[in-house]
Amino acid sequence: MFVPTRRTFLKAAAAGVAAPYAFAQGAKITSTQLGERIHLLTGAGCNVVVRTGADGVVMVDGGLAQNAAVLAQAVAALPNSGPVRTLFNTHWHPEQTGSNEALGMAGAAIIAQENTRLWLTQNITWPWNGQKFKKLPKIAQPNKTFYDKGTLDSGIRYGYIPDAAHTDGDLYVYFPEQNVLAVGDVAYGEGWPVVDWWTGGWIGGIAGGLQRIQSVANRDTKIVPAQGPVLTLADIAAQAEMYGTIFDRLNQMLNKGRGPSEAVEAKPAKEFEAKMGNSDAFIRRAFESQWAYLSPDA
Ligand SMILES: [Zn+2]
Repeated sequence: MFVPTRRTFLKAAAAGVAAPYAFAQGAKITSTQLGERIHLLTGAGCNVVVRTGADGVVMVDGGLAQNAAVLAQAVAALPNSGPVRTLFNTHWHPEQTGSNEALGMAGAAIIAQENTRLWLTQNITWPWNGQKFKKLPKIAQPNKTFYDKGTLDSGIRYGYIPDAAHTDGDLYVYFPEQNVLAVGDVAYGEGWPVVDWWTGGWIGGIAGGLQRIQSVANRDTKIVPAQGPVLTLADIAAQAEMYGTIFDRLNQMLNKGRGPSEAVEAKPAKEFEAKMGNSDAFIRRAFESQWAYLSPDA
């Protein structure tokens, strides 16, 4: 999530400003080549992986809606670019799904795990801060969903990350030719993750999802999170260990009948804060996520 931008956008929209264009001019997209015919575009609200080729452009995530136009220009400007034929949504958040409407109208296949499509067909309000998300119009909803995994004709593989690391609809996309793996918000390149337990994410899933990524990647894989710099397998292994430790500690507190505020006070991520920043908000969400996970119907 990148909340300030969205909030600013909503304020501008409420004031009647032609926000998409105002922001399209404001956003600056930077492109980095990751391998042959594959680029990382940053600046649209999340990391966007773009593979160009004779069979059309394949894109992983689409940035925020207000940046969709300028992102489309940046994609078109890549060497050997062409029409975007396939867009993946790694999950339902607005940073991932902001190009859905334009590309849906242009006839692209929008691939997502079925749970992601379901979230995008309903209005959502986060209980911890009241933030609201509007359902997407039909044309912007994923039109090619799956439950488990799949392969494109080009050999690109994708699959469900069922651990519920960030939401209950997380997916990865693996480009075997270039050994690039896009993982959405299942791994964060920087800072503490948002634990979106309202749509299925939980702390145990963060630890589990990071383990699963290690089974898809190899030592030389470039692992692209939705936020922050490109990661290596060693980075993922270190993260898996850290979140495993934090999960164990929170689990112990849960078993002793402690609550979220006591968990925050106990500072269970203290030794990681020098590198990761203050963990209070993360720990509170992570603790709440255990309640949500263990009593989904409560
Ligand atoms: Zn997210």
